[in-house]
Amino acid sequence: MGLDAVVFCDCVEKGCLTTPHPYPRLLCIASNGSPEIRSKNSFKVDEHDMWMNLPPCKHEQMMLGGCQLGNIWFIPHMRRILSGVLRKRGQACPVLLGKVLYGGTHTGDYLSVKDVGRLSDELDRLKGPQLSEAGLSGEDARQIALAIRELRRLVKTALTVNKPIAF
Ligand SMILES: [Zn+2]
Repeated sequence: MGLDAVVFCDCVEKGCLTTPHPYPRLLCIASNGSPEIRSKNSFKVDEHDMWMNLPPCKHEQMMLGGCQLGNIWFIPHMRRILSGVLRKRGQACPVLLGKVLYGGTHTGDYLSVKDVGRLSDELDRLKGPQLSEAGLSGEDARQIALAIRELRRLVKTALTVNKPIAF
């Protein structure tokens, strides 16, 4: 178990599907950016899931990218370390600490496009030297730098297509 983040593709919005949806009129985009069916009928929901698994476009699982930020133990550890670093510098990263790293597993929620933009600014302010001056152990420094790099890559992907980041 851990914290995974993904960006869904925008092939539905752009109309570049290779296989049409079984119920195009019921197809919509959920607030986390995922294609969703507006129906509670379990047969139709199953058909929708099978359609997404095809996948009906060139993207595996209809995702443009994803990353594993860390496991259930590492995320709170990383949050503690980063909070300490930021506090010392009088900086705040409300999206990173409050909406991404607030728990090791918060599957189902998402960052709106606006929050992704804020996160992008926060990550820019957290560039390299800040962390290397923080006196972290080698392993902590390596893992945190890796998680931040992955997150930065995903933020860039999300902003390119104007989509949320889903957890
Ligand atoms: Zn796609």
